[in-house]
Amino acid sequence: MCIFCKIINGEIPSQTILEDENFLAFNDINPSKKVHILVIPKEHYDSFDVIPPKIMASMTEFIQKLVSKVGIKNSGYRLITNIGVDGGQEVKHLHFHVLGGEKVGKMVS
Ligand code: AMP
Repeated sequence: MCIFCKIINGEIPSQTILEDENFLAFNDINPSKKVHILVIPKEHYDSFDVIPPKIMASMTEFIQKLVSKVGIKNSGYRLITNIGVDGGQEVKHLHFHVLGGEKVGKMVS
């Protein structure tokens, strides 16, 4: 079972920010910005590459709700999802990084 599936089933602790029946948002363990939240679907998909577009639409709504909740909707934020080897993906469970709370710079690193 992957590390994020273990977070979903409670085997590994995390700081939940928002949750519904399909998605979970929790703080990244190694934050690169003041706000660094990971958003994952509870169902395992290896990456963005294989998520059904219908589920992605619900995930979009969830992320929009999340950024309102944490107060970065108006100040702005960056969404990143790394995909595969060249994309630098370390955890093979689709996740979006939500970065904000301060300026995140021009380039994605
Ligand atoms: P990526 O390189 O896009 O696969 O990003 C994986 C992210 O997961 C990194 O930013 C890690 O800091 C984060 N991460 C790994 N393990 C945990 C954990 N147990 N709880 C929270 N975040 C984690």
